Amino acid sequence: MPSEELNLAAFAVCLTCGHLRDGAPREQRCRCQPRTPEWEQQWQGQDISSDLDLCLLCVRDTVTTRTRWSWLACETCRHVSQVVGERYGHRAALPLGRHSIMNGDVVQPHTATATKVAASLVASVRRGNELRDWQQVEFDRLAEPLRPGGPTVPLAEWQRRCPPSLGASVDAFDRYGVMPVPNDLSTLRQAQTEFLSTAR
Ligand SMILES: [Zn+2]
Ligand SMILES: [Zn+2]
Repeated sequence: MPSEELNLAAFAVCLTCGHLRDGAPREQRCRCQPRTPEWEQQWQGQDISSDLDLCLLCVRDTVTTRTRWSWLACETCRHVSQVVGERYGHRAALPLGRHSIMNGDVVQPHTATATKVAASLVASVRRGNELRDWQQVEFDRLAEPLRPGGPTVPLAEWQRRCPPSLGASVDAFDRYGVMPVPNDLSTLRQAQTEFLSTAR
Protein backbone atom coordinates (compact mmCIF):
# COMPACT_ATOMS: atom_id res chain seq x y z
CA MET A 1 0.00 0.00 0.00
CA PRO A 2 1.37 3.45 -0.82
CA SER A 3 2.96 5.23 2.10
CA GLU A 4 1.94 8.59 0.57
CA GLU A 5 -1.39 8.32 2.37
CA LEU A 6 0.39 8.50 5.68
CA ASN A 7 1.34 11.81 7.21
CA LEU A 8 4.91 11.02 8.24
CA ALA A 9 5.23 14.33 10.08
CA ALA A 10 2.58 13.18 12.57
CA PHE A 11 4.55 10.13 13.77
CA ALA A 12 6.74 10.04 16.85
CA VAL A 13 9.34 7.53 18.00
CA CYS A 14 8.78 6.12 21.50
CA LEU A 15 12.19 6.23 23.16
CA THR A 16 11.16 3.46 25.58
CA CYS A 17 9.96 0.63 23.31
CA GLY A 18 11.36 1.80 19.97
CA HIS A 19 8.06 1.67 18.10
CA LEU A 20 6.24 4.46 16.31
CA ARG A 21 3.18 6.14 17.79
CA ASP A 22 0.66 8.89 17.01
CA GLY A 23 0.65 9.32 13.24
CA ALA A 24 -2.13 10.15 10.84
CA PRO A 25 -4.72 9.56 9.47
CA ARG A 26 -5.12 6.96 12.26
CA GLU A 27 -3.65 7.04 15.73
CA GLN A 28 -0.98 4.39 16.00
CA ARG A 29 0.09 3.21 19.46
CA CYS A 30 3.45 1.96 20.61
CA ARG A 31 3.97 -1.05 22.88
CA CYS A 32 3.75 1.13 26.00
CA GLN A 33 0.28 2.46 25.28
CA PRO A 34 -3.01 0.75 26.21
CA ARG A 35 -4.97 -0.96 23.44
CA THR A 36 -8.63 -0.28 24.03
CA PRO A 37 -11.48 -1.92 22.10
CA GLU A 38 -12.33 1.47 20.54
CA TRP A 39 -8.76 1.86 19.40
CA GLU A 40 -8.62 -1.72 18.05
CA GLN A 41 -11.77 -0.98 16.06
CA GLN A 42 -9.99 1.31 13.63
CA TRP A 43 -7.60 -1.50 12.56
CA GLN A 44 -10.29 -3.99 11.69
CA GLY A 45 -9.67 -5.74 8.39
CA GLN A 46 -5.95 -5.09 8.54
CA ASP A 47 -3.47 -7.87 9.48
CA ILE A 48 -1.26 -5.67 11.62
CA SER A 49 -2.58 -2.94 13.89
CA SER A 50 -0.06 -0.33 12.81
CA ASP A 51 0.82 1.53 9.62
CA LEU A 52 4.50 2.25 10.01
CA ASP A 53 7.50 1.03 11.96
CA LEU A 54 11.24 1.53 12.09
CA CYS A 55 13.45 -0.76 10.03
CA LEU A 56 14.48 -3.95 11.82
CA LEU A 57 18.12 -3.64 10.77
CA CYS A 58 19.19 0.02 10.54
CA VAL A 59 16.39 1.27 12.87
CA ARG A 60 16.48 4.58 10.95
CA ASP A 61 14.30 4.33 7.89
CA THR A 62 10.63 3.34 8.02
CA VAL A 63 8.63 0.41 6.67
CA THR A 64 4.88 0.14 6.15
CA THR A 65 3.53 -2.64 8.33
CA ARG A 66 -0.09 -3.08 7.32
CA THR A 67 -0.12 -6.63 6.02
CA ARG A 68 1.40 -9.97 6.99
CA TRP A 69 3.30 -9.67 3.71
CA SER A 70 5.04 -6.46 4.68
CA TRP A 71 8.80 -6.21 4.92
CA LEU A 72 10.50 -5.77 8.28
CA ALA A 73 13.43 -3.82 6.89
CA CYS A 74 13.72 -0.72 4.74
CA GLU A 75 14.42 -0.82 1.02
CA THR A 76 18.11 -0.01 1.49
CA CYS A 77 18.73 -2.71 4.10
CA ARG A 78 16.90 -5.27 1.95
CA HIS A 79 19.08 -4.28 -0.96
CA VAL A 80 22.27 -4.75 1.11
CA SER A 81 21.02 -8.12 2.40
CA GLN A 82 20.24 -9.22 -1.15
CA VAL A 83 23.48 -8.01 -2.72
CA VAL A 84 25.75 -9.43 -0.02
CA GLY A 85 23.82 -12.71 0.13
CA GLU A 86 24.07 -13.16 -3.62
CA ARG A 87 27.76 -12.40 -3.51
CA TYR A 88 28.17 -15.58 -1.47
CA GLY A 89 25.92 -17.49 -3.80
CA HIS A 90 22.91 -17.48 -1.50
CA ARG A 91 19.54 -15.84 -1.46
CA ALA A 92 19.18 -12.66 0.63
CA ALA A 93 21.44 -12.85 3.69
CA LEU A 94 18.79 -11.98 6.27
CA PRO A 95 15.14 -13.02 6.74
CA LEU A 96 13.66 -9.54 6.35
CA GLY A 97 10.16 -10.58 5.30
CA ARG A 98 7.38 -10.88 7.85
CA HIS A 99 6.16 -14.09 6.21
CA SER A 100 8.55 -17.05 5.94
CA ILE A 101 7.70 -17.49 2.25
CA MET A 102 9.18 -14.03 1.60
CA ASN A 103 12.47 -15.29 3.01
CA GLY A 104 12.59 -18.37 0.83
CA ASP A 105 12.09 -20.61 3.87
CA VAL A 106 9.92 -22.98 1.97
CA VAL A 107 10.59 -26.68 2.08
CA GLN A 108 8.76 -28.62 -0.60
CA PRO A 109 6.36 -30.84 1.36
CA HIS A 110 6.57 -33.72 -1.13
CA THR A 111 10.37 -33.94 -0.90
CA ALA A 112 10.80 -33.31 2.82
CA THR A 113 9.87 -35.21 5.94
CA ALA A 114 7.69 -33.54 8.58
CA THR A 115 10.80 -33.29 10.77
CA LYS A 116 12.62 -31.36 8.05
CA VAL A 117 9.72 -28.96 7.60
CA ALA A 118 9.52 -28.38 11.36
CA ALA A 119 13.30 -27.88 11.65
CA SER A 120 13.23 -25.34 8.85
CA LEU A 121 10.44 -23.39 10.54
CA VAL A 122 12.24 -23.44 13.90
CA ALA A 123 15.43 -22.15 12.27
CA SER A 124 13.44 -19.41 10.56
CA VAL A 125 11.81 -18.30 13.82
CA ARG A 126 15.18 -18.30 15.56
CA ARG A 127 16.72 -16.10 12.85
CA GLY A 128 13.76 -13.72 13.21
CA ASN A 129 14.15 -13.56 17.00
CA GLU A 130 17.86 -12.81 16.70
CA LEU A 131 17.03 -9.87 14.45
CA ARG A 132 14.50 -8.55 16.97
CA ASP A 133 17.14 -8.75 19.71
CA TRP A 134 19.51 -6.86 17.46
CA GLN A 135 16.91 -4.17 16.79
CA GLN A 136 16.43 -3.61 20.53
CA VAL A 137 20.17 -3.22 21.16
CA GLU A 138 20.66 -0.98 18.13
CA PHE A 139 17.65 1.13 19.04
CA ASP A 140 18.95 1.62 22.59
CA ARG A 141 22.32 2.71 21.22
CA LEU A 142 20.71 5.35 18.98
CA ALA A 143 18.04 6.43 21.48
CA GLU A 144 20.30 6.84 24.51
CA PRO A 145 21.44 10.44 23.78
CA LEU A 146 17.85 11.53 23.08
CA ARG A 147 16.22 10.10 26.21
CA PRO A 148 16.94 13.03 28.54
CA GLY A 149 14.80 15.19 26.22
CA GLY A 150 11.53 13.34 26.91
CA PRO A 151 9.66 10.09 26.25
CA THR A 152 9.28 10.57 22.48
CA VAL A 153 10.81 12.47 19.57
CA PRO A 154 9.13 13.34 16.27
CA LEU A 155 10.05 10.86 13.55
CA ALA A 156 11.61 13.72 11.54
CA GLU A 157 13.87 14.58 14.46
CA TRP A 158 14.85 10.91 14.86
CA GLN A 159 15.85 10.75 11.20
CA ARG A 160 17.70 14.05 11.42
CA ARG A 161 19.77 12.63 14.29
CA CYS A 162 20.08 9.16 12.76
CA PRO A 163 19.80 9.66 9.00
CA PRO A 164 18.95 6.60 6.91
CA SER A 165 21.53 5.97 4.19
CA LEU A 166 23.25 3.19 2.31
CA GLY A 167 26.28 3.69 4.54
CA ALA A 168 24.12 3.28 7.66
CA SER A 169 22.54 0.10 6.26
CA VAL A 170 25.91 -1.40 5.34
CA ASP A 171 27.23 -0.46 8.76
CA ALA A 172 24.28 -2.08 10.54
CA PHE A 173 24.54 -5.20 8.36
CA ASP A 174 28.25 -5.43 9.06
CA ARG A 175 27.86 -5.10 12.83
CA TYR A 176 24.97 -7.58 12.85
CA GLY A 177 27.63 -9.92 11.55
CA VAL A 178 25.73 -12.70 9.81
CA MET A 179 28.28 -12.74 6.97
CA PRO A 180 31.31 -10.57 6.15
CA VAL A 181 30.66 -7.55 3.97
CA PRO A 182 32.87 -7.75 0.85
CA ASN A 183 35.62 -5.14 0.59
CA ASP A 184 34.40 -3.59 -2.61
CA LEU A 185 31.43 -1.86 -1.03
CA SER A 186 32.21 1.28 -2.96
CA THR A 187 30.77 -0.56 -5.96
CA LEU A 188 27.72 -1.35 -3.90
CA ARG A 189 27.39 2.29 -2.89
CA GLN A 190 27.48 3.34 -6.51
CA ALA A 191 24.93 0.72 -7.49
CA GLN A 192 22.74 1.86 -4.63
CA THR A 193 22.80 5.49 -5.74
CA GLU A 194 21.48 4.39 -9.13
CA PHE A 195 19.04 2.03 -7.47
CA LEU A 196 17.63 4.82 -5.30
CA SER A 197 17.39 7.36 -8.10
CA THR A 198 15.31 4.93 -10.15
CA ALA A 199 13.20 3.75 -7.21
CA ARG A 200 12.28 7.13 -5.78
ZN1 LIG B 1 6.56 2.79 23.65
ZN1 LIG C 1 17.08 -0.19 7.21
